[in-house]
Amino acid sequence: MQEPIVSRKHAPETDIVHLGRRPFDHQGVVNPPVLHASTILFPDFDAFEAATRPSTDRRRVVYGRRGTPTSFALQDAIAGLEGGYDTLITPSGASAVGLALLSLLKTGDHVLMTDSCYGPTRIQCSSLLARYGVTTTFYDPAIGGAIAALIRPETAVVFMESPGSLTFEVQDVPAIVAAVAASGRDIVTVIDNTWASPYFFRPLALGVDVSVQAATKYIVGHSDALLGTITATEAVWPRLAKTVGELGIWTGPDDMYLAQRGLRTLAVRLNQHQETGLTLARWLAERPEIVQILHPGLPGSPGHALWKRDFTGASGLFGALIKPVPRPALAAFFNSLELFGMGWSWGGYESLCILADPAKSRSATHWTRPELLLRFHAGLENPDDLIADLETAFAAMAAV
Ligand SMILES: *Cc1c(COP(=O)(O)O)cnc(C)c1O
Repeated sequence: MQEPIVSRKHAPETDIVHLGRRPFDHQGVVNPPVLHASTILFPDFDAFEAATRPSTDRRRVVYGRRGTPTSFALQDAIAGLEGGYDTLITPSGASAVGLALLSLLKTGDHVLMTDSCYGPTRIQCSSLLARYGVTTTFYDPAIGGAIAALIRPETAVVFMESPGSLTFEVQDVPAIVAAVAASGRDIVTVIDNTWASPYFFRPLALGVDVSVQAATKYIVGHSDALLGTITATEAVWPRLAKTVGELGIWTGPDDMYLAQRGLRTLAVRLNQHQETGLTLARWLAERPEIVQILHPGLPGSPGHALWKRDFTGASGLFGALIKPVPRPALAAFFNSLELFGMGWSWGGYESLCILADPAKSRSATHWTRPELLLRFHAGLENPDDLIADLETAFAAMAAV
């Protein structure tokens, strides 16, 4: 039997290296074994019978889908980093969001969802949840404590994402949590913590009940696996574990292994993503093509004050609003880029740049900026090379 989950007790960089590892459970090997398992065999009838009885041991191995040392290593590490009671691993970030919502909502309930949420999260509300009789009110991400006015008797979940996908609004998480608590209602607060990861932002310490991550991004960190995590307080945990267990959600051991392997370098990678992201943002801010930078970590950018108060760092993902140019000029810019790839997702070691359109995914607020929004992911290349690549691309744009 395993010891209780290790809680965070050192500096975050140290915990990132050590949490969840139990080398002497398997011959001193540094990383956990990748166990491919469905059937688990029991040595005798007593052990078999014991496994059929309910247990409070969350690290008991009875059947592949119920957890193995491969999943426990990642669960323990993420739970410790987030400062939660325990963590569920899911096959993608989108499934982590959907499973958290499904676990916490029932027919007749109402969810308050930030208007700046990740696109597929919006669709889960307007399609999947609506089909099961759950209604959604999208709210202005800048709402803060005024969210109190939107709480109804049937409100069961308040969902945040900070900074918002594509638009990078930083939410006043403590004010929202305080308003929910003051309502006196049984409402669970959930946040999508993908942008910062628990290295740079710890929502549970601010009173949020559930933190969801697309570990696909910075935890995996190498653009080669999809994975989600749901971390909760002890009070909320049973509801999540029940639904995810009932649905039979399980994630392949190789991907869980890749996530725990990626996690061990999270701090050094994120520190570099942060530094390069800020270098690019500062350089872009001086360019004549740029109207505004959307980077919470950059002084003068929207949300900087809240970011400074609540976060300990910024990741490498940010936006830049550029003066509108005709499509051929835009195509020349993107086609000139050699180091910035064009593709969905982010959080890997490589730089990315895409065109984004936030206007399409808004309902409570309107995105009326006339500029074009470029979303950058600062990778781990040398920043001078990245700047030179952008300089060439802007010249190609101007030449059209
Ligand atoms: C990418 C992303 C997700 C979804 O993650 P997948 O692993 O691609 O399903 C969820 N939330 C946010 C904020 C994301 O950026």
